[in-house]
Amino acid sequence: MVGIIKSKIRSKKPISFEIDEGITITSTGATNINIPFLVNHVDFFPSSFKLDVHKNVIYIDPLIVDEEVPADYILITHPHQDHFSKNDIRKLLKRETKVICPKSVFKKLSKELEGYTIIEIKPGDKMDFGNLTIESIEAYNIKSGFWVPHSKSALYVGYIINSGKVRIYHAGDTDYTPEMMKLKNINLALTPIDGGKLSMTTEKAAEFINNLNPQFAVPMHYMIGTDEVEKFKELVNRNTRIIVMDGLK
Ligand SMILES: [Zn+2]
Repeated sequence: MVGIIKSKIRSKKPISFEIDEGITITSTGATNINIPFLVNHVDFFPSSFKLDVHKNVIYIDPLIVDEEVPADYILITHPHQDHFSKNDIRKLLKRETKVICPKSVFKKLSKELEGYTIIEIKPGDKMDFGNLTIESIEAYNIKSGFWVPHSKSALYVGYIINSGKVRIYHAGDTDYTPEMMKLKNINLALTPIDGGKLSMTTEKAAEFINNLNPQFAVPMHYMIGTDEVEKFKELVNRNTRIIVMDGLK
Protein backbone atom coordinates (compact mmCIF):
# COMPACT_ATOMS: atom_id res chain seq x y z
CA MET A 1 0.00 0.00 0.00
CA VAL A 2 1.23 3.44 -0.88
CA GLY A 3 1.16 5.47 2.23
CA ILE A 4 2.43 8.72 3.62
CA ILE A 5 2.35 9.17 7.37
CA LYS A 6 3.95 11.33 10.01
CA SER A 7 7.58 10.41 10.56
CA LYS A 8 8.67 9.15 13.97
CA ILE A 9 11.57 11.55 13.76
CA ARG A 10 9.34 14.60 13.31
CA SER A 11 10.37 17.25 15.79
CA LYS A 12 7.88 18.02 18.56
CA LYS A 13 8.04 21.73 17.97
CA PRO A 14 7.43 23.27 14.55
CA ILE A 15 10.59 24.58 12.90
CA SER A 16 10.11 28.26 12.09
CA PHE A 17 12.34 30.97 10.77
CA GLU A 18 11.63 34.69 10.40
CA ILE A 19 13.06 35.89 7.10
CA ASP A 20 11.89 39.48 7.42
CA GLU A 21 9.71 41.50 9.74
CA GLY A 22 6.29 39.88 9.70
CA ILE A 23 7.33 37.05 7.39
CA THR A 24 7.92 33.62 8.84
CA ILE A 25 8.36 30.24 7.20
CA THR A 26 7.40 27.10 9.11
CA SER A 27 8.12 23.53 8.13
CA THR A 28 5.12 21.22 8.46
CA GLY A 29 7.54 18.43 9.35
CA ALA A 30 9.10 15.17 8.26
CA THR A 31 6.97 12.42 6.72
CA ASN A 32 7.43 8.72 6.15
CA ILE A 33 6.69 7.30 2.72
CA ASN A 34 6.00 3.78 1.59
CA ILE A 35 5.70 2.95 -2.09
CA PRO A 36 5.95 -0.78 -2.83
CA PHE A 37 9.05 -1.72 -4.84
CA LEU A 38 10.27 1.87 -4.78
CA VAL A 39 10.71 3.21 -1.28
CA ASN A 40 10.18 1.20 1.84
CA HIS A 41 9.04 3.39 4.74
CA VAL A 42 11.68 6.04 4.28
CA ASP A 43 11.75 9.35 6.12
CA PHE A 44 11.21 12.13 3.66
CA PHE A 45 11.28 15.89 3.99
CA PRO A 46 8.50 17.09 1.69
CA SER A 47 7.85 20.40 -0.09
CA SER A 48 5.18 21.28 2.48
CA PHE A 49 5.43 24.63 4.25
CA LYS A 50 3.39 27.26 6.00
CA LEU A 51 4.18 30.90 5.39
CA ASP A 52 2.97 33.73 7.56
CA VAL A 53 3.24 36.74 5.30
CA HIS A 54 2.10 40.00 6.88
CA LYS A 55 -0.89 38.31 8.57
CA ASN A 56 -1.76 36.10 5.60
CA VAL A 57 -1.52 32.40 6.31
CA ILE A 58 -0.33 30.55 3.22
CA TYR A 59 0.27 26.81 2.91
CA ILE A 60 2.16 25.37 -0.02
CA ASP A 61 1.63 21.66 -0.81
CA PRO A 62 0.45 20.89 2.77
CA LEU A 63 1.17 17.27 3.69
CA ILE A 64 0.41 15.56 7.02
CA VAL A 65 0.15 18.85 8.88
CA ASP A 66 0.07 19.01 12.68
CA GLU A 67 -0.76 22.60 13.04
CA GLU A 68 -4.23 23.48 11.98
CA VAL A 69 -4.26 27.22 11.60
CA PRO A 70 -6.84 27.80 8.87
CA ALA A 71 -5.38 29.02 5.61
CA ASP A 72 -6.03 32.24 3.77
CA TYR A 73 -4.35 30.66 0.77
CA ILE A 74 -3.46 27.08 -0.12
CA LEU A 75 -1.14 26.72 -3.11
CA ILE A 76 -0.70 23.35 -4.79
CA THR A 77 2.11 22.82 -7.30
CA HIS A 78 0.95 19.55 -8.91
CA PRO A 79 -1.19 16.47 -8.28
CA HIS A 80 1.45 13.98 -7.07
CA GLN A 81 0.66 12.41 -3.72
CA ASP A 82 3.51 14.02 -1.84
CA HIS A 83 2.29 17.48 -2.90
CA PHE A 84 -1.47 17.22 -3.18
CA SER A 85 -3.29 15.90 -0.13
CA LYS A 86 -7.04 16.41 -0.06
CA ASN A 87 -7.10 15.48 3.62
CA ASP A 88 -4.74 18.26 4.50
CA ILE A 89 -6.54 20.77 2.33
CA ARG A 90 -9.80 19.93 4.08
CA LYS A 91 -8.21 20.38 7.50
CA LEU A 92 -6.97 23.86 6.63
CA LEU A 93 -10.04 25.24 4.90
CA LYS A 94 -12.21 28.07 6.15
CA ARG A 95 -14.93 29.84 4.21
CA GLU A 96 -12.59 32.55 2.93
CA THR A 97 -9.72 30.26 1.91
CA LYS A 98 -8.52 30.55 -1.65
CA VAL A 99 -7.10 27.33 -3.07
CA ILE A 100 -4.83 28.02 -6.05
CA CYS A 101 -3.76 25.10 -8.21
CA PRO A 102 -2.97 23.96 -11.75
CA LYS A 103 -5.66 22.47 -13.97
CA SER A 104 -4.81 18.85 -13.10
CA VAL A 105 -5.51 19.55 -9.42
CA PHE A 106 -8.43 21.88 -10.12
CA LYS A 107 -10.24 19.05 -11.92
CA LYS A 108 -9.94 16.85 -8.84
CA LEU A 109 -10.92 19.51 -6.32
CA SER A 110 -13.57 21.72 -7.83
CA LYS A 111 -16.41 19.21 -7.56
CA GLU A 112 -15.46 17.93 -4.13
CA LEU A 113 -15.06 21.30 -2.51
CA GLU A 114 -18.17 22.93 -3.81
CA GLY A 115 -18.81 26.30 -2.24
CA TYR A 116 -15.11 27.00 -1.69
CA THR A 117 -12.95 29.24 -3.81
CA ILE A 118 -10.75 27.10 -6.03
CA ILE A 119 -8.73 29.06 -8.57
CA GLU A 120 -6.97 27.52 -11.56
CA ILE A 121 -3.54 28.93 -12.31
CA LYS A 122 -1.42 28.50 -15.41
CA PRO A 123 2.35 28.92 -15.64
CA GLY A 124 3.08 32.63 -16.11
CA ASP A 125 -0.13 33.88 -14.45
CA LYS A 126 -0.01 36.69 -11.92
CA MET A 127 -2.82 37.17 -9.42
CA ASP A 128 -3.26 40.31 -7.41
CA PHE A 129 -4.93 39.96 -4.00
CA GLY A 130 -4.33 43.51 -2.77
CA ASN A 131 -1.64 43.15 -0.15
CA LEU A 132 -0.25 40.05 -1.83
CA THR A 133 0.45 38.94 -5.36
CA ILE A 134 0.94 35.35 -6.40
CA GLU A 135 2.74 34.45 -9.62
CA SER A 136 3.38 31.06 -11.07
CA ILE A 137 6.10 29.73 -13.30
CA GLU A 138 6.60 26.45 -15.13
CA ALA A 139 7.84 23.44 -13.17
CA TYR A 140 8.95 20.52 -15.34
CA ASN A 141 11.61 17.96 -16.22
CA ILE A 142 14.11 18.73 -18.94
CA LYS A 143 15.45 15.19 -19.11
CA SER A 144 13.77 13.28 -21.86
CA GLY A 145 13.08 9.59 -21.81
CA PHE A 146 10.44 6.97 -21.47
CA TRP A 147 9.11 8.26 -18.18
CA VAL A 148 8.86 12.00 -17.54
CA PRO A 149 7.16 12.53 -14.18
CA HIS A 150 6.66 16.26 -14.73
CA SER A 151 6.27 17.06 -18.40
CA LYS A 152 6.07 20.68 -19.52
CA SER A 153 2.70 20.02 -21.16
CA ALA A 154 1.22 18.95 -17.81
CA LEU A 155 1.33 22.65 -16.77
CA TYR A 156 2.57 22.03 -13.24
CA VAL A 157 3.81 25.13 -11.44
CA GLY A 158 6.11 26.76 -8.96
CA TYR A 159 5.01 29.90 -7.10
CA ILE A 160 6.35 33.35 -6.40
CA ILE A 161 4.70 35.13 -3.51
CA ASN A 162 5.21 38.89 -3.36
CA SER A 163 4.42 40.98 -0.32
CA GLY A 164 5.90 44.43 0.12
CA LYS A 165 9.49 44.14 -1.05
CA VAL A 166 9.80 40.46 -0.21
CA ARG A 167 9.64 37.74 -2.86
CA ILE A 168 9.46 34.07 -1.98
CA TYR A 169 9.89 31.32 -4.58
CA HIS A 170 8.71 27.73 -4.14
CA ALA A 171 10.00 25.66 -7.06
CA GLY A 172 7.66 22.65 -6.91
CA ASP A 173 9.10 19.57 -8.63
CA THR A 174 11.31 20.80 -11.43
CA ASP A 175 14.63 20.69 -13.18
CA TYR A 176 16.62 23.89 -13.59
CA THR A 177 14.63 25.38 -16.47
CA PRO A 178 15.20 28.41 -18.74
CA GLU A 179 12.22 30.08 -17.03
CA MET A 180 13.94 29.72 -13.65
CA MET A 181 17.09 31.27 -15.07
CA LYS A 182 15.12 34.50 -15.56
CA LEU A 183 14.02 34.73 -11.92
CA LYS A 184 15.29 37.79 -10.08
CA ASN A 185 15.18 39.48 -6.69
CA ILE A 186 14.14 36.46 -4.67
CA ASN A 187 14.67 36.76 -0.92
CA LEU A 188 13.80 33.18 -0.03
CA ALA A 189 14.02 30.23 -2.42
CA LEU A 190 12.62 26.78 -1.62
CA THR A 191 14.30 24.26 -3.86
CA PRO A 192 14.17 20.49 -4.32
CA ILE A 193 17.52 18.72 -4.03
CA ASP A 194 18.67 15.14 -4.65
CA GLY A 195 15.99 14.74 -7.30
CA GLY A 196 17.27 11.92 -9.47
CA LYS A 197 14.70 11.61 -12.25
CA LEU A 198 12.13 13.65 -10.34
CA SER A 199 13.77 17.04 -10.06
CA MET A 200 17.12 18.81 -9.78
CA THR A 201 20.10 16.93 -8.46
CA THR A 202 21.78 18.51 -5.46
CA GLU A 203 24.52 19.89 -7.74
CA LYS A 204 21.97 21.51 -10.09
CA ALA A 205 20.02 22.91 -7.17
CA ALA A 206 23.21 24.51 -5.85
CA GLU A 207 24.01 25.91 -9.31
CA PHE A 208 20.49 27.35 -9.46
CA ILE A 209 20.79 28.94 -6.02
CA ASN A 210 24.22 30.35 -6.81
CA ASN A 211 22.91 31.99 -9.99
CA LEU A 212 19.76 33.26 -8.29
CA ASN A 213 21.67 34.52 -5.26
CA PRO A 214 18.78 34.75 -2.78
CA GLN A 215 19.25 35.85 0.82
CA PHE A 216 17.93 32.49 2.09
CA ALA A 217 17.50 29.03 0.59
CA VAL A 218 15.61 26.06 2.03
CA PRO A 219 16.34 22.59 0.62
CA MET A 220 13.26 20.36 0.35
CA HIS A 221 11.96 17.11 -1.18
CA TYR A 222 14.74 14.77 -0.08
CA MET A 223 15.22 11.52 1.80
CA ILE A 224 16.33 12.14 5.34
CA GLY A 225 19.52 10.46 6.48
CA THR A 226 21.68 10.95 3.38
CA ASP A 227 24.49 13.49 3.10
CA GLU A 228 22.77 15.50 0.35
CA VAL A 229 21.91 18.43 2.61
CA GLU A 230 25.55 18.68 3.68
CA LYS A 231 26.60 18.53 0.05
CA PHE A 232 24.13 21.30 -0.82
CA LYS A 233 25.50 23.46 1.99
CA GLU A 234 29.04 22.98 0.75
CA LEU A 235 28.18 23.85 -2.85
CA VAL A 236 26.15 26.99 -2.19
CA ASN A 237 27.97 30.32 -1.99
CA ARG A 238 28.35 31.90 1.41
CA ASN A 239 26.18 34.95 0.62
CA THR A 240 23.08 32.75 0.65
CA ARG A 241 22.11 31.48 4.06
CA ILE A 242 20.81 27.93 4.00
CA ILE A 243 18.03 27.08 6.40
CA VAL A 244 17.54 23.38 7.01
CA MET A 245 14.01 22.77 8.26
CA ASP A 246 13.78 18.98 8.59
CA GLY A 247 14.15 19.18 12.36
CA LEU A 248 17.34 17.13 12.56
CA LYS A 249 20.46 18.48 14.14
ZN1 LIG B 1 6.07 15.32 -8.42
